[in-house]
Amino acid sequence: MVRNRTKACDQCQKIADVMYRIQVDRSAWWQFICNDCWKLLSNHPNYIYGGTWKARKR
Ligand SMILES: [Zn+2]
Repeated sequence: MVRNRTKACDQCQKIADVMYRIQVDRSAWWQFICNDCWKLLSNHPNYIYGGTWKARKR
């Protein structure tokens, strides 16, 4: 089971405390991606930014 506190990146499957909610295609599918993947995908021509998700500490 994956807890709500952390998410795995939809690109690289890495668990991260801060995730970026983005779309990069026309399927209206929101992906949560880590900072590393966000740097790469933010150059995508169809990139749409949907907000930042942060894990709650403690
Ligand atoms: Zn990633």
